[in-house]
Amino acid sequence: MKKISIIVPAYNEEEVIEMFYDKTIEVLKKLENEYTYELIFIDDGSKDETLNKLKNLRKRDSKINIISFSRNFGKEAGILAGLQNTTGDFTVIMDADLQNDPNMIKKMLNYINEGYDTVTTIRNKKGESKIKSFLSNIFYKIIDSEKNIELKQGSQDFRMMTKQVKDAILSLNEYNRFSKGIFSWVGFKVKYIETENHKRAAGKTKWSYKALMSYALDGITSFSVKPLKIATIVGTIISILALILAIEIVLQTIIQGKEVPGYASTIISVLFIGGIQLISIGILSTYVGKIYLEIKNRPKYIIKEKYIGENNERDNK
Ligand code: UDP
Ligand code: MG
Repeated sequence: MKKISIIVPAYNEEEVIEMFYDKTIEVLKKLENEYTYELIFIDDGSKDETLNKLKNLRKRDSKINIISFSRNFGKEAGILAGLQNTTGDFTVIMDADLQNDPNMIKKMLNYINEGYDTVTTIRNKKGESKIKSFLSNIFYKIIDSEKNIELKQGSQDFRMMTKQVKDAILSLNEYNRFSKGIFSWVGFKVKYIETENHKRAAGKTKWSYKALMSYALDGITSFSVKPLKIATIVGTIISILALILAIEIVLQTIIQGKEVPGYASTIISVLFIGGIQLISIGILSTYVGKIYLEIKNRPKYIIKEKYIGENNERDNK
């Protein structure tokens, strides 16, 4: 019998985690004749009762596994820890807030059995704010201009993959993990299915606009060096313009003997070029900063407690 592994990153989800479990188990129980399953929750340094609630669930159901981080490392780290610790033939990544409908699992299995390697959900944009749609549009445009990856707009982390795809994803050992990009970079035969934009069942989202902006910037700089090229091109164009202007001024002085009284134009061009330089340096340092983080080669997360299979391990205790 094939096994389904479900990865659930959870950060401060005490209000919804039990509800998530009930709803998901209901679906998995229905599939029990054909598939076994395991659930692996990654408690991403929650400050509330999430971990305790998970431990209680584990007492009831031995198919529940828990990894608890020493602090909040972010959802990407949670997904990675999940992928590294699953044993199933098929792996599913799901949010804890029931925005990902567990009933989709059956549908995903059907496509996998048809021969697809990955089934990815696309959120339809109903009910999303205008500004958010606009900003996410720009983001996908920039990423899509990169040749080696294709991010479908609205694609979510909610997906099912075969073991082969999982291993391919794990073979990318980068520190700055932008999962959406990595998933698409590894390739394979992907089926996209559309899902409703469900409301969070309880609790609060962890994404402010500021966090989203930084996530977008992270995504772009993880998978594209286009901003560096743009800085180079703009710099070149401005240098050429400046050269033409300089020649013109020299010729005017020589031929007409007239001095150019150009205070305003001087100041403007100095400020303009100064601005362009600062932007370019900013872009450059974003990449240098990333290289710095990569090169330090720190662990991507630190585990404090781990309850997997038969093992109950609490480090340093
Ligand atoms: N999450 C996490 N670590 C974080 C932030 C979020 O593990 O630092 C989890 C969170 O518990 C949830 C999933 O990632 O299961 C998606 O988060 P959220 O619902 O806040 O994002 P949204 O659905 O609003 O994009
Ligand atoms: Mg959510």
